[in-house]
Amino acid sequence: MTPHNAIHQRTRRLLNAFDINHSSVFWVVFVSTLPTVILLFISYFQAIALAKADLDNIIKIATSETNQLLEDAEVTLRRSNLDLQTADNQTAVNLLRRKIYNDFRFREAGIINKQGFITVSSLGLLDKPIPESQTMAQFDPKNPELQILGPGKTRLMQEKSIVFILQGSGRIGGTYLLVDPAILTYFLKVIPSQDLGEHGFISLVTTDQRLLSSMGTAPDDLSFDLQNSSLDTIRSSKNTINRNIKIVGGISRSWALRYWLQNLLVSAPLTIFISGILSYLFVRQLRRVNGLDYELKRGLAENEFEVHYQPIVDLKTRQCIGSEALLRWRHPQRGLIYPGLFIPIAEQTGLIIPMTEWLLEQVIQDQILLSKRISNFYTSVNLSPTQLNTGDVERLIQIMRAKSQDSRAMITFEITENKLIEEQVQVVQDAIARLKQLGSRFAIDDFGTGYSNIAYLQKLDLDQLKLDQLFVKGIEHGSTVIQIVDSLIDFGNRLGLTLIAEGIETEAQYQYLKDRGVRYGQGWLFSRPLPLGDFEQFLQSSET
Ligand code: C2E
Ligand code: CA
Ligand code: CA
Repeated sequence: MTPHNAIHQRTRRLLNAFDINHSSVFWVVFVSTLPTVILLFISYFQAIALAKADLDNIIKIATSETNQLLEDAEVTLRRSNLDLQTADNQTAVNLLRRKIYNDFRFREAGIINKQGFITVSSLGLLDKPIPESQTMAQFDPKNPELQILGPGKTRLMQEKSIVFILQGSGRIGGTYLLVDPAILTYFLKVIPSQDLGEHGFISLVTTDQRLLSSMGTAPDDLSFDLQNSSLDTIRSSKNTINRNIKIVGGISRSWALRYWLQNLLVSAPLTIFISGILSYLFVRQLRRVNGLDYELKRGLAENEFEVHYQPIVDLKTRQCIGSEALLRWRHPQRGLIYPGLFIPIAEQTGLIIPMTEWLLEQVIQDQILLSKRISNFYTSVNLSPTQLNTGDVERLIQIMRAKSQDSRAMITFEITENKLIEEQVQVVQDAIARLKQLGSRFAIDDFGTGYSNIAYLQKLDLDQLKLDQLFVKGIEHGSTVIQIVDSLIDFGNRLGLTLIAEGIETEAQYQYLKDRGVRYGQGWLFSRPLPLGDFEQFLQSSET
């Protein structure tokens, strides 16, 4: 297996063991996209609301301008009617002329007498009655209100006009004003920033659905079914103006959504930032709660760890002479977890230090019991190389002094060769020396698996060498492995170290190692690692 594969597999095992699974991924995605989705929604509705407000505003202005125009027209016509009661035709025409000159909104004015002759401001009295146009025919002489006719041709002008007409009295049939339809929306063009977009419009429509004037592209159907409009951006004046004019405005939805885009451009960077912060915080929290390091800390505080002991036997007699203490984690939900899963994390997070201290306390306490059965009973404790590299063994020394009282602590510290830092040789040497002063011994663990710098190892005051189970397994398989085993044994002997073979599972392995003069061994052939109670029983049964 390549190192990469090994890491990959370990990660997968961790993920499986700790549910950092699809639902967590879902929540991370959910939390990080939530602000964006909310922003999209809020700014969408805001854009529509802004468009409506704009349109309402335009309609309001149009309404007040139109009202003003109608009011002015009515006042002018009523006054003319009054004046005409006393003045002759010429004076009346002069009056009208003045009005037209003074107010650009009115294009032409006229008087209709009882005979149907009309007088106009620009031409004076016309001799013959001018046949009424279609537009003028709509005039109802019995209606006392201001009437709005058109738009249409009046025979007086080429262009279509809207006619404001008011019934007269006495010899006067009525007076009227002609208005260019464009005047009705003229004032909208001078309001700045009232851009309605490609499909936008403002229309003045009579209640009998005549289009008086329009700006932009008014729809063909003037019924304006506002309730069922697909455009919620069509608005209309609240009330009809002056009895029979309604103002309707509309813009296209896509036009309204330009606000949306503008909004998004401004707020997107902020939302992305917020999303980033949120997902960071969320993942951190998730890691904390779901993460193995958090779990480990909790497990340690809740006393979920156990020490199992694997017997170490004298290969000549098969008698147990010591044991190796191995950590187990009895997780409340996940059952028994083996150290291969949590030791690497504990080493990464530094949790290995309190963990080892806890283990050592436990071991020393248990040893008071075990040493009653077997004299000179040593227990092996795996020491994380990081602890030795920093030389920080103060707490270990304290524990060994306090717990072992007057008797000496019979501890063998196992260290893996390939993780010791060669530059730190002085620090490591000192740490080893201080722990050995208290009666402990030192072993090189997993010997043969790392790059062994023999010169470096020789500088350390070691007692034992543990032959890795990889080589023990290979004994039955091939000559090359056997050659390596032989040379490792040879090497240990030359350094004067006591050899311990790990992972002995078969009689054949046992026989070979015994014959080669390996002193001690451990493995499933003798016993698996056992909880204290079972281990005591094991010792008892092997005595008999
Ligand atoms: P290790 O120090 O090499 O421990 C020997 C491992 O081999 C143990 O695995 C043990 O259960 C297993 N073993 C023993 N006999 C046999 C056998 O006949 N066949 C097979 N296949 N395996 C056998 P375990 O308990 O899972 O521990 C794994 C590793 O975790 C240990 O390897 C050690 O490096 C580390 N570890 C365990 N406890 C501690 C601890 O308290 N502190 C530190 N720093 N590391 C620990
Ligand atoms: Ca070990
Ligand atoms: Ca080992």
